[in-house]
Amino acid sequence: MELPYAEPYKIKMVESINRSTKEQRLKWIKKANYNLFNLTSDKVFIDLLTDSGTGAMSDKQWAEMMIGDESYAGSSSFLKLKKTVKKITGFKYFLPTHQGRAAENVLFSALVKEGDIVPGNSHFDTTKGHIEFRKATAIDCTIDEAFDTSKIHPFKGNIDIQKLKSVFKKYPAKKIPLVILTITCNSSGGQPVSVQNVKEVSKLCKQYNVPLFFDSARFAENAYFIKKREKGYESKTIKEIAKEVFSYGDGMTMSAKKDGLVNMGGFIALNSKEIFKQATVFNIMFEGFITYGGMNGRDMGALAIGLDEATEFNYLESRVEQVAYLGNKLVEFGVPVQQPIGGHAIFLDANKFVPNIPREEYRAQALAIEIYVVGGIRGVEIGTVLADRDPITRENRYPELELVRLAVPRRTYSNNHMDYIAVALKNIYDTRNEAKTGYVITEEAPIMRHFTTKFKKV
Ligand SMILES: *Cc1c(COP(=O)(O)O)cnc(C)c1O
Repeated sequence: MELPYAEPYKIKMVESINRSTKEQRLKWIKKANYNLFNLTSDKVFIDLLTDSGTGAMSDKQWAEMMIGDESYAGSSSFLKLKKTVKKITGFKYFLPTHQGRAAENVLFSALVKEGDIVPGNSHFDTTKGHIEFRKATAIDCTIDEAFDTSKIHPFKGNIDIQKLKSVFKKYPAKKIPLVILTITCNSSGGQPVSVQNVKEVSKLCKQYNVPLFFDSARFAENAYFIKKREKGYESKTIKEIAKEVFSYGDGMTMSAKKDGLVNMGGFIALNSKEIFKQATVFNIMFEGFITYGGMNGRDMGALAIGLDEATEFNYLESRVEQVAYLGNKLVEFGVPVQQPIGGHAIFLDANKFVPNIPREEYRAQALAIEIYVVGGIRGVEIGTVLADRDPITRENRYPELELVRLAVPRRTYSNNHMDYIAVALKNIYDTRNEAKTGYVITEEAPIMRHFTTKFKKV
């Protein structure tokens, strides 16, 4: 028999988590105005709200924390990180920021103006928020296959070249400051982008003289999928694949809270000296001096180690295959999930899961609440609440997919936890034809509303 994969680590420290009863959770979620972001962590048993900053650091990362250099300028921890970023991405210039959206804020301050167009593959919510905040427009050019959750396609994060071409034809190049390719594509389900597609997008961008930037939060997981699925990459290392992908672009933004394996951090890396110079000004204004940019020295040291560990095959195999383990259990139970299973999360298809709750009553939000009540499991809505209102008409925007995301933190939960989650979901799915509650919004913020929206039962 072939040996199965197993975690390439053992546990040195544990953290207790609290179990609770259904009655307690019903009370708590009501008090939280039916917004899962409002629950304190002691009221959650398995926290799948996000895989962002929730992973476990290694002993080597913790050791690095102890020797962090907290010098304001030119700290050795900064130099360590700079060297690692160069080694892994190949980009010439580098600016640390406190997290991914800060990198977006700094970069877009230099590049994006009112009236601009920023094409990409299903921009992440903070990315879109930073574009729209500048009165520019994000255009989604993702391939159509991504919007059919049951369609099997190896690279559902890919950009549709024809869609991108028509954006380039419709708007003058000076209105398009950059194209953003998100790897893996978070919003369409943690789905990867192929090297082939990166090359085609890159070629088109060069033809129209538009810079290509990667939103690289999960670039290592993307490289793992390329190794497993794309012809010609089977025997390349993750580091070789990642570097090749980056070589087709002009720069990147990074939320290090994902594939950086740290709890906080981010950066920008790029090749253009001119854009680097402009971004530097905003980095100093918003983040801090260019050799720390909102991060502690010790955190930069831990990130340098984290980037190295996250781009090792054995780690990535156990990480991505754990997510697949959960996903495959759900498929076995008949639960409707986005397929193929993404790299960091399971996406439940609420349109198929709870079709009897009208979309106007936020069915994916309703499902997320049900999962919490039944199992003490916290996921997040990726549907109408997250899609926000149209900035002009202020009407709800109904996205093609109503999803609940169950994001799996890195190196944190065991497969026993995955079994528990799968059974909780099976139980909910088996009772899907019973009457279910929808919700109405009682209070919301003008932008990025999902964090603070208050709901009540219909
Ligand atoms: C998390 C994330 C961001 C934003 O990063 P933060 O560190 O949360 O600010 C941007 N893009 C993608 C694809 C992400 O997953």
